[in-house]
Amino acid sequence: MSGRTALPVADARSLRRYVRDLARRHPRLLWTALGLHVGAALAGLAAPRLLGNLVQAVEEGTSLGHVDRVVLALAGFLVLQTVLTRYARLTSQVLGEQVLAELREDFVDHVLALPVGTVESAGSGDLLTRTSRDTDQLSWSVRWALPEWTIALITAVVTVIAAVSVGWWVLLPLVVGLPPLVIGLRWYLARAKAGYLRESASYSTINATLTETVEGARTVEALGLGRERVEAIDDDIRESYAAERYTLYLRTVFFPSMELSYLIPTVATLLLGGYLYSQGTVSLGEVTAATLYVQMLIDPVDRIVSILDELQLGAASLARLLGVAQVPDDRTATGRHPDGEQLDASDVRFSYTEGRDVLHGVDLHVGVGERIAMVGPSGAGKSTLGRLLAGIHPPRTGSVTVGGVGLTELPLDELRGHVALVTQEVHVFVGTLRENLALAAPPGAGEERLRDALDAVDALEWADALPEGLDTVVGSGGRALTAAQAQQVALARLVLADPHTLVLDEATSLIDPRAARHLERSLAAVLAGRTVIAIAHRLFSAHDADRVAVVEGGVIAELGTHDELVAAGGSYAALWESWNGGVTDDRADA
Ligand code: ADP
Repeated sequence: MSGRTALPVADARSLRRYVRDLARRHPRLLWTALGLHVGAALAGLAAPRLLGNLVQAVEEGTSLGHVDRVVLALAGFLVLQTVLTRYARLTSQVLGEQVLAELREDFVDHVLALPVGTVESAGSGDLLTRTSRDTDQLSWSVRWALPEWTIALITAVVTVIAAVSVGWWVLLPLVVGLPPLVIGLRWYLARAKAGYLRESASYSTINATLTETVEGARTVEALGLGRERVEAIDDDIRESYAAERYTLYLRTVFFPSMELSYLIPTVATLLLGGYLYSQGTVSLGEVTAATLYVQMLIDPVDRIVSILDELQLGAASLARLLGVAQVPDDRTATGRHPDGEQLDASDVRFSYTEGRDVLHGVDLHVGVGERIAMVGPSGAGKSTLGRLLAGIHPPRTGSVTVGGVGLTELPLDELRGHVALVTQEVHVFVGTLRENLALAAPPGAGEERLRDALDAVDALEWADALPEGLDTVVGSGGRALTAAQAQQVALARLVLADPHTLVLDEATSLIDPRAARHLERSLAAVLAGRTVIAIAHRLFSAHDADRVAVVEGGVIAELGTHDELVAAGGSYAALWESWNGGVTDDRADA
């Protein structure tokens, strides 16, 4: 969607800091895993040495017994390497899973702490992609790419050391292989990302054009657009073909150049070793060992190079996951506690998009226990004001306070004990009914509290009739609750949270009319003894209120009792007149 502000993405520095902190949380596991990997790599290095010595021994004349012993030693090191590798991988997996679990927990914490306004303006799509695709990508990287890459790196380093320990001359063939490797890699990496992005974008375009054509098939036919659509798809396919050809070209240059740079050192070691041997400087055994070591390097280096791509994707996902934590909080807990239950809004201005206020200086002082009805045309700002009065958004200027403390100065769980917003949107979480209620209950609330809350909203009867009572699993996948039951669960949560002030946003207007009567009783029970600000779409609830606030164009245009406003002859009087004239209801003549 246009005009959406995407959620932030963490930069490289905070990424590194996070990875460092994460590594520091499990020093023992980390070092054990690394140590085991090094051990396994070292055990793998014995073979070339032993083989080299064997070649040397054969040249100098040896016995069968010696050959047998060498072969036995080779087998021994192989077994050792296998055992060490097994435990190394096990430890890395355990470490990986722990890190992953912590990452997910951190992410969930950050998502839950996101200001509602940010989620709304960024759209839930971005957040969903991050929770699904990015966590998947990251899991893959942490579970597979990172350990493989670390193992390859350790193996490569240890192998280079072993190769050089045969003789300093081995450095020369190794260095010769470096330039083609580095140049090829840099050439490829500089082009690959854009190339592959273009390729996947071209697939999306083909998809979009095709779907559009199929969905608009009637229009296409009616307007005779067939040819143009075919041409459009042809263009898309041409582009996709070009994009694929390009990435194919990248690979046809990159892979051979890599193969070449892998082979160069091996060949060079053989040649240089052969020359030095002919000069009598090195022994045949040394040449054999060196060549085998250099050959052994190919595999880990190849893995280091090919996994690099995967790691980059993982890092990009991590950056997007960490970005969520960087959204500035719009609440700052100051530790002040409200003194009393008085709710006051003073000179409140608020805008969703910068520079376009939807509230223009609202003052509203709500008496304790008062019932206020908010009415006004659609789009006037009633819901917005309701959300500010419930502390969901901070005002741009001015203040909304309860007992003298700004609503956004209170931590969310404390705020909910003072003011709560009730909307038609109720959600039943997957879990037991008990868990659904306990969300809102003070910690340690017992069975009695939960049952009393259900009873208060007239829901105890059906709750007890569930197959497993309060322990019945409800929500998606569990037992489906009716819309009215879901509303009652939400109301019972309110009873448990026990706020002294409620803001109702069209709380009962979407309810199934057959259930409405019943629910209104439940709602009335919840409202009893609390301060209520109701955004009213049906005027009779305004009629019952202590005061009526008419919101028009982002300000409170009229404020007073029903009788006062009717007598004043303003817009409320006009509304009342038209509503009253059109409907015959026993309340109308009250
Ligand atoms: P009411 O409840 O009186 O119908 P609202 O408070 O919903 O009015 O809306 C007031 C104004 O704010 C409208 O112009 C509406 O388009 C705008 N608005 C409401 N919600 C958002 C939002 N999430 N983002 C941007 N603008 C919004």
